[in-house]
Order: sequence, then structure tokens, then C-alpha cells
Amino acid sequence: MMAAPSASAVPPLEAPTAAGNYFVSNYPPFSFWKPDRVGEVAAALRRPPAPGTELGVYLHIPFCRKRCHFCYFRVYTDKNAAAIKAYLDAALDELSLYAAQPFIGGRRVGFVYFGGGTPSYLSVEQLRYLTEGMKARLPWDSAEEVTFECEPGTLTEEKLRAIRGMGVTRLSLGVENFDDHILEINGRAHHGKEIDRAYAAAREAGFPQINIDLIAGMVEETEANWRQCVARTLELAPDSVTIYQMEVPYNTTLYRRMQEEGKLTAPVADWETKRRWVQFAFEQLEQAGYTVGSAYTAVRDKARTRFVYRDQLWAGADLLSLGVASFGHIGGVHYQNHHDFDPYVARVQAGEFPHYRALTPSEEERLIREFILQLKLGSLSLRSFANKFGVDLRTRFAEPLERLRQWGFLCVEGDTLRMSREGLLQVDRLLHEFFLHEHRNARYA
Ligand code: SF4
Repeated sequence: MMAAPSASAVPPLEAPTAAGNYFVSNYPPFSFWKPDRVGEVAAALRRPPAPGTELGVYLHIPFCRKRCHFCYFRVYTDKNAAAIKAYLDAALDELSLYAAQPFIGGRRVGFVYFGGGTPSYLSVEQLRYLTEGMKARLPWDSAEEVTFECEPGTLTEEKLRAIRGMGVTRLSLGVENFDDHILEINGRAHHGKEIDRAYAAAREAGFPQINIDLIAGMVEETEANWRQCVARTLELAPDSVTIYQMEVPYNTTLYRRMQEEGKLTAPVADWETKRRWVQFAFEQLEQAGYTVGSAYTAVRDKARTRFVYRDQLWAGADLLSLGVASFGHIGGVHYQNHHDFDPYVARVQAGEFPHYRALTPSEEERLIREFILQLKLGSLSLRSFANKFGVDLRTRFAEPLERLRQWGFLCVEGDTLRMSREGLLQVDRLLHEFFLHEHRNARYA
């Protein structure tokens, strides 16, 4: 049974949206990854893979039509065709460097992810050049999942057919909101009518899975607008829906504006409102037959729709990450590539790996990483962690688990550790309870 939270026991809720990172994407925090440890990646590349470790490939395409005001990714809006060609060649050369390393160990690539930036910013010709080049260096024809992120305004029927022809199985549409005014004021490049057109053409192109991304709490979002976004999403009936709660990291246009205006609170809905909006969306989706499968996602057909990239990554798979500022994980070592365009391209052109900083997590840090990431799924098997790490999570995390149980955010049912819905909706802020002391309050940058 889930314990009811007693008002005094529940931790103070941060009401307004202040600047800073909310979303926890990895562990230990990036500020602990250091340039003087990149030699650890090179050493890992020379070792054969750990038996049974899956291999995935991620490619960062850092080009966008406009920079969204809330965006904290490494993106460029000013690169011409020659610069894009140089970048694609660098990514292919980078892949060639990896393909020759012992850590590949004859493994097949299990999953591929084209993220950004905006992968769909590339032309059909550029996409063909890129994907054919990648497959020639490290075949991924038998990958279980190939994901491709898109911005609706960049898609045409021809491009969608080409993307499907490349072997993409999951098309992720960055819709974020359906309202033209909200899209415009948040700096998005697309408009509402482009969403409908792109979605219909994507269905026509026959992708096995189409995902729609939404953001709850964009600047000037209202209750009525959010309800309308949920209704429009239900009308389209995508295979999965991913919902993020708006955050305002430091390196965003929004944050810079806050600084100029001397404001500590971002001009977006507070956290409680955003959680309520996501809960409303989840309820509506559940009523329409969807299943909530993580803090951010709902899927229409649970038996058919999987998130291989997410699930493999959160369970410790190797991720060979290509491109500027990409984050990867190879043979137990975290790394990030050079975070600026020119140094990244120059390093690869010189025949060197473009690693910028790295960290080899300890066994305990690996355990924490996989535990907190899998908590985002809403439930996990205690036995799977005992088998993999030889650790009983109930003993190792007795104190924070009891704290979260008393707050009403999780419970243990037999072998399963389960988050309550209320806990799941704020899971990212709760994960810090499981961090090692030195990692608390660290910046995710
Ligand atoms: S489309 Fe995505 S990656 Fe590009 S600027 Fe907007 S949020 Fe950033």
C-alpha cells in the first residue's frame, strides 16, 4: 500500500520556475567530467566490449532554422552548405575512427538516434550522403530502432519518404505547442498548420512509430491553451507522446532576458501548475487507451511501442556519440565531444578523436546512475539490480527510500519499486536524494 503523505513530511515545493537545470539526464553531473581524463576514453576504446553490452550510435545534428528561447543545446542557425558538408564529413570521419577500435568487438549496432538541433534541417541529398556514409563505415541495417528528431516546418513529403527509406523506425516530431502565438513568442520556427501537414505526410510515409513532443508551461501558456494542445494531440493519435515540463537553464535566451531585467523568476507557469498540466494530459491520454510508461511518455499500444534508445541507455549500454558537444558512454567511461564547431571539425580533420572531457564512474556511481534513470520509468525490479550490482537497493538506499515513502512518492511491492504518480511527476527533483553527497547541488552543465 502507498502511504498517504502527511503534510508536514512532504518536502517544500519550489513554487516559481527559477533559472537552472531541472531535468536529470545523466550521473555523475557533467561538471565532474574533466578534460584531463579523456585518456580514459582512449583506453576504453582499446579494450574489447564487456560481454552482453548493447551498442548504440547517436549523432548530433546541430543546425536549426531559429534558436528557440528556451533552448540549451549546442545549435547553429548560420551555417551555409559548405560548413554543413564539412560537418557531415567530420562526423563520418569520426565514425571511421571508432569503427577501427577493439571496443566495437564485432557487435551489431542495436539502435541509432539522430538528435539535435534539427536533423530534419538537412536536405534529402545531405541526408542520403550522411546515412549511406555511416552505413558503409558501421552497418546499422539490423538496428532494432532508428530514431529521427524533426521540426515540423522542415518536412516535405519527399523528405519524409527519404527519411523512412533510410531505415528510420521512429519519427519524433517537435510540436511543443499547437498555438501560433505561443510558438512565435517562444522562438519556435514552425507554425500550427505545418504540424498537421507534417503529421499527415509522416503517416503516409509509413513510419512504424510517430512520437509527438510537447512542452507544458511555455511562455504565455494558459490552462485553456494546454487543454487545447492535449485535445489536438488526441485527435492526431500518435503512437507516443512525450511531455517535458518547461525549465529555464542558464545558457538560454530566456535566462539572459531574466538577467537583463533583474528577474529571478522565469515568465512561465510554476512547477505545481506544470505538474498539474502533465497530470491532466496523462489522464486524458489514459482515458483514450494510452499507457504512461515514464515521467514523460505515454504510448498508445504498449505491446508494440518501445523506446529502445532510452531503455538501453538507462540500463548501461555503450553509446557511441558523434558530433559537436555529443555525450557518449563507452566501456564504462562517460565522455563529451568538443562543444564548439570549429575545434570539433579541426580535431577530426587531424585524425584525432574530438573528446573534450570524460569521467569513469565508480561502481557505486554506475549503480546510482542506472537506479535514478530507471526510477524515471515509474517502476523497477529490485532483483535486476541485485543480479547486476550485487546490491540490495532497499539496504543501500534505506534512508532516502524511506524518506520518499513517507512523502508518499514511492513504495515497494514484492520485487518492484514503484513511484506514485505524484512522485513520478516531480521525479527529477527527487533523484537528488540518491546522489552522493559531493554531487548534490551540482550544476548540470
Ligand atoms: S528546434 Fe530544438 S534544438 Fe533547435 S533551437 Fe529549438 S529547442 Fe533548440
